[in-house]
Amino acid sequence: MGKTEKFEFQSEVKQLLDILVYSLYKNKEVFLRELISNAVDALNRVQFELLTNPDVEDKELDLKIDISFVKSQNKLIVEDTGIGMSKEELIENIGTIAHSGAVDFIKKLSEDKTKDQVDLIGKFGVGFYSSFMVANEIHIYTKSFHKGSKGYLWKSKGDSSYTIEESVKKQRGTRIELILKKEEKEFLDTLTIKNVIDNHSKFVPFPLFVENEKIDCVEAIWTQPKSGLKQADYDAFFKFFVNSQEEPEVHLHLSSDAPVQFHSILFVPKTSLELVGLFKIEPGVDLYSKKVLIQKGCTDIMPEYLRFVKGVIDSEDIPLNISRETIQNNIIIDKIKKHVLKKLFDHFAKIKQKDKDKYLRIWKNYNRNFKEGIATDFANREKISHLLLFQSSKKGPDEYVDLKEYIERMDKEQKEIYYVTGLDIESLEKNPALEAFKKKDIEVLYLIDPLDEIVIDHLKEHQGKRFKLVESADIKLEQAKETEKDSQYRKDLENYIGYLKTIYGEKIADVKISQRLVDSPCILVHPNDGPSVQMEKIMKMVNKEYSFSKRAFEINPASALIKEMVRLHKGQPDSPELKELSLQLLDNMMLREGVIDNIDTVVPRLQDIMLKAAKSL
Ligand code: ADP
Repeated sequence: MGKTEKFEFQSEVKQLLDILVYSLYKNKEVFLRELISNAVDALNRVQFELLTNPDVEDKELDLKIDISFVKSQNKLIVEDTGIGMSKEELIENIGTIAHSGAVDFIKKLSEDKTKDQVDLIGKFGVGFYSSFMVANEIHIYTKSFHKGSKGYLWKSKGDSSYTIEESVKKQRGTRIELILKKEEKEFLDTLTIKNVIDNHSKFVPFPLFVENEKIDCVEAIWTQPKSGLKQADYDAFFKFFVNSQEEPEVHLHLSSDAPVQFHSILFVPKTSLELVGLFKIEPGVDLYSKKVLIQKGCTDIMPEYLRFVKGVIDSEDIPLNISRETIQNNIIIDKIKKHVLKKLFDHFAKIKQKDKDKYLRIWKNYNRNFKEGIATDFANREKISHLLLFQSSKKGPDEYVDLKEYIERMDKEQKEIYYVTGLDIESLEKNPALEAFKKKDIEVLYLIDPLDEIVIDHLKEHQGKRFKLVESADIKLEQAKETEKDSQYRKDLENYIGYLKTIYGEKIADVKISQRLVDSPCILVHPNDGPSVQMEKIMKMVNKEYSFSKRAFEINPASALIKEMVRLHKGQPDSPELKELSLQLLDNMMLREGVIDNIDTVVPRLQDIMLKAAKSL
């Protein structure tokens, strides 16, 4: 026998163990669900190897899971004939947490051990380590499926370290022995274990025995007719499938014979783990052929941006020994993808129409995924565009419109879909560019998510109506009446505009009379449509070299301030004060947009203006 080697757990594993061992997490029984789920994974994987690889250890072994006890030693044993682990895999898989997102989550959790946070553990599955909630010590005997592999014994007391030694193991697979804490002896009971299985694991797709008694499990529920299944069956399958305590928000059961044969159950979870700040979740739709798992998280059917959708797709038309490379170029896979996505988007559209509250929950959880879809999935862009929701000038703070509703409300003369961007609704509503829209009662979409502008950039239009930024230079909503009536004022105004052009120089593309402002004296507008300032700021963050596009400056002839400036310019065109005030007029707008690059000039100038104002009081 070889020697026993001692290893330290990765520090995040230690933290997780610390949380689990001492937490008041109530649902301790989930440890069994996690062990069974790992065993199922291991069996699925060896089943696939058996189909594709001629050199598998213990080829003839039945694929199954056995649960048993040694009551005299407080031992609960879960054994599978799955893929097993080599020594390296033991260290890699059991000693470390590979997923960087999970690592971050655990860090967060160990800083904030409130109940809500600990409950989250249940939502994302705690894995093998949860066994330390009930066990003082754990022994893992394992032997890999590779021909001629040695057996190993892994031991740990759930403190900071574990040991590994060589150990004879007759059969391929993994045997996990929990030496239960005194107060957890209830798990040494057939009835208790059967109950836990019934609650959490009744969909195990391999034979499962408790003390040699075969447990009735529901096999491949997706192949059963819809008519025989109840909501509770779907809920239970979902919980089993994602290792969660929570019911799904949506389930969709599909069966098709033509153009391709397949069965599928798809789910949308109630909680978005990405939204609660966990991490980018893994794709969650698994591909089966005749109930055999072919690929976990098959993105060739359910695209990356729909990674929040969980479930299975099972098709007899897919050859069992298909390799990952051929999945990509397979015609059948392609057909299934088209069909499934169509049904899924139709289903979302139906919920949107029939159950607004439910759809709003889905939207709040997953809107960024839909937006990602608009940018990346050209084939389904149109379908997804009907699922988009926006906040709008015609709606309250927590209400949304879709593009159909916006277009239906449009006036006959209105040709475009107007939008404004900003960091939040409050600041965006103060945008002077909105003044004329408000006055004329024209609806404007409020975009506060930077992704929205990317969406609009990809869509360009909806049902023949182009999207238009309210700050676009060619928007003319207000007639400059006063300037038409009074030709002298008009002339003075033109002169002042000429003056502004000289003092602003290269900073500005143009200075013009505004036909959009109602109250505000001036505004900066975009000579070309978009990108908005918000978007440009993001571009600048990504690329320091990026320079903001030059904008045009519009002034409102009806504003009191502009009238005073025109008067001052007429009387004292060379006045240094006029110049300072006129420069400040532009810099105020730059300040408003947060793109000021000469703040060291602006602040002393403002102070100078204030001093003069104070003295004149
Ligand atoms: P997860 O299952 O979410 O990956 P776990 O902590 O439960 O996390 O398990 C970590 C890894 O250990 C698994 O991904 C798998 O590679 C390995 N593992 C756990 N249990 C078994 C088992 N019964 N047979 C083979 N490998 C296993």
